[in-house]
Amino acid sequence: MIDTLRLTAEEAKRLLEAREISGAELFAAYAERDDDLNAYLHRCDDPGGDGIPLAVKDVIGTKGIPTTAGSRILENYVPVYDATVIANAKQHGLRILGKTNTDEFAMGSSTENSAYGPTHNPWDLSRVPGGSGGGSAAAVSGGLAPWALGSDTGGSIKQPAALCGHVGLRPTYGTVSRFGVVAFASSLDQVGPVAKNVRDCAYLYSIISGRDANDSTTVEVPKVELPNADSLAGLRIGVPKEMNGAEGIEIGVTDAVNRAISLAESLGASVEECSLPRSVDYGVACYYLVAPAEASSNLARYDGVRYGLRVDGDDFREMVMRTRDAGFGDEPKRRIMIGTYALSSGYYDAYYATAQKVRTVIKREHDALFERFDVLVSPTSPTVAFPIGAKVHDPLAMYLNDLLTIPSCMAGLPGLSIPCGLSEGLPVGLQLIGPQFGENTLFRAAHALEQAIDFDPVPERLR
Ligand code: GLN
Repeated sequence: MIDTLRLTAEEAKRLLEAREISGAELFAAYAERDDDLNAYLHRCDDPGGDGIPLAVKDVIGTKGIPTTAGSRILENYVPVYDATVIANAKQHGLRILGKTNTDEFAMGSSTENSAYGPTHNPWDLSRVPGGSGGGSAAAVSGGLAPWALGSDTGGSIKQPAALCGHVGLRPTYGTVSRFGVVAFASSLDQVGPVAKNVRDCAYLYSIISGRDANDSTTVEVPKVELPNADSLAGLRIGVPKEMNGAEGIEIGVTDAVNRAISLAESLGASVEECSLPRSVDYGVACYYLVAPAEASSNLARYDGVRYGLRVDGDDFREMVMRTRDAGFGDEPKRRIMIGTYALSSGYYDAYYATAQKVRTVIKREHDALFERFDVLVSPTSPTVAFPIGAKVHDPLAMYLNDLLTIPSCMAGLPGLSIPCGLSEGLPVGLQLIGPQFGENTLFRAAHALEQAIDFDPVPERLR
């Protein structure tokens, strides 16, 4: 019997290499599990071979496999090529289990903005898995995939990892190719790994990262080291006070994070309070100018001609308008309007140009802290998983879910979320932020902490 709830990708690889299980058996163990979470939008047949199965967020283009980005406007879109991350995965023998649910165009924090219905949190079916990568998150925590690919613009890998109780890395901007990935906000989007533990996360990152001739924003990446050590001796941890004492952080979340910080000290790390005053104050506001501005431009390509849906009209203009009206849900429409306004002549300097300057301030604040610290820590999400429906009618409340994940994304920095305990019976995520290209440091620190915390990633109702 293959226990898909507990099996790590590393252990799966070992079992395959030792021929204790066949590739077909392994794939079937996941494929045959009932998806009562609505984690998948599309499930694939076993392509054969004996690599490790992988779930893929539906914003990542997959040759011959529908790729909808959670939107009606791409309902019948089937890419004719693979995203670079998929090509890399296939080169390592990984086999695609299916495409996972996402907020439409990755816009959201709960996966309730998907045109194909919400995904359910495996810990409590009445709650959200987080978003936008709720499908990949639910698949990994719910035993429907050993690991998965997500994408993160302002928190969509880290926040669902926190709410579902597993590990997620948002890599340094430019270390993972965006070629073939449905674009949301190009200066922020990064694909990253979603996994059951830190070593699997590092391993998947090593597979997908690296320079890609098809994405000129990518760079060579330092060799990825799979973490082993259980000591934190010498590690300098900064605790930004605004991120740990921010309004709206649940007490149970703060408690679990504080326990993890104490554990880090007992493992040999030095811990010191520090400050990111402007990053936290202005991060969300700045993000909600930059990201919609870029989105409004990226989403202009869905015109009824080039991709997916078309709704006919009397002339070209009417066809485009009808297609976009029928194809986009409320959230993309809201962002297109905000973004178009922020970019319009007369307002450009007041909004977009100002936001870009604030972004530079945020980057500098982080850079200054990394002269004194190796990692910064905070809660990943201010709250545990909330009930489905609780925030759908309040976009601003929804946007505040990313209060703590957004600042480092704006600065282009890597962030890792690991589970650090439970509050109200639901997982709490600890966010570790590193300097640019500091992934190996994050893996080392997070692995040592993971051993000490000893969190059971299997949802209680499934044990
Ligand atoms: N929740 C944020 C948003 O709605 C971030 C989403 C993401 O990282 N893709 O834009």
